[in-house]
Amino acid sequence: MQHFDLNQLQWNNTVREQLLGQGLARLPHAVLLVGPAGVGKTAFSEQLAALLLCESMSPELSACDQCQACRWLDAGNHPDFRRVAPDGDEEPEEGVVEKTKKRSAANIKIDQIRELEAFVFVGSHRDGNRVVLITEADAMNPAAANALLKILEEPPSSVYFILVSSKTKSLLPTIRSRCRVIPFGPPDAAAAAAWLAGAGLEKQAARYLNLAGGAPMRVAQWKEQGQLAPIDALVESLVSPPADPIALAARWDGLLKGDGVFRMENLVEGVQRWLFDLAQERLAGEVRYHGGWPRPKGVQNLNPNALLAAWREINQCRRSARHPLNQLLFLENLAAHFLRALRPVA
Ligand SMILES: [Zn+2]
Repeated sequence: MQHFDLNQLQWNNTVREQLLGQGLARLPHAVLLVGPAGVGKTAFSEQLAALLLCESMSPELSACDQCQACRWLDAGNHPDFRRVAPDGDEEPEEGVVEKTKKRSAANIKIDQIRELEAFVFVGSHRDGNRVVLITEADAMNPAAANALLKILEEPPSSVYFILVSSKTKSLLPTIRSRCRVIPFGPPDAAAAAAWLAGAGLEKQAARYLNLAGGAPMRVAQWKEQGQLAPIDALVESLVSPPADPIALAARWDGLLKGDGVFRMENLVEGVQRWLFDLAQERLAGEVRYHGGWPRPKGVQNLNPNALLAAWREINQCRRSARHPLNQLLFLENLAAHFLRALRPVA
């Protein structure tokens, strides 16, 4: 398990204080960490698990990183720790397109929760706490969620449940009501920039942060996945697009031919956000997603109604964005919608 330095996640100190301010003994036995992706919920949940299992905790409530328990946890084989995540390779991400078969297969299944019963109701190996960490708790299918509810009804007192979710709407309300809900939000811009600088993203940090809804760890994930270059190239194609939709579509097609990290739904979302920002800029004089990026010339001559109409038309296309029958044709259609919206007010 990767350990994060608490100082790197300073913006979550209020949450820490809320949960641990009265000591570990007052920690609720089931907590649900909620908030947008990329603001540090998972890192925090891992710290909390380490804290509950560490056998030589510091008075400031940090795991020691040295004891047998910490080393086991690091190596992923602590006998009193269980991590439950969706069964499948594909990481759920901010949804652009409706669920596909593959996506819906990546959920937490009832068997995974049933396996917990033995863990929870049989005694601890180390005579201490036991911790169940459920990341992406919203990925539990209804049967799994109901099975978990039963366990949460009367867990032994040394068992702690930490649930993490970025999509709380998909969680059963009964699960929420059994947990202490701890909301996480994005850090302020300075803290986010400082964290990104630590992750090797100094200069461009601000512009990606806006695209990521202020969530620094999402930006770091994009960097790791090699998404930043295609994002740059897409924005470049939108700032000064060729006049011909076929030429624009060909450029986009090139972006999608990378190693699969930048997908059609990312592209469609990027175009939509760009249109949204152009309309915002015309109507309100500000942008939401592309602050810090070069602005195109002549925005003041654009027709906001045409921009919003194109945004809506492209919204209609989103359903088929994941698996268009003919990718190039799909892109040409998208490019035509986009370029039409850029015609200046007559
Ligand atoms: Zn320790």
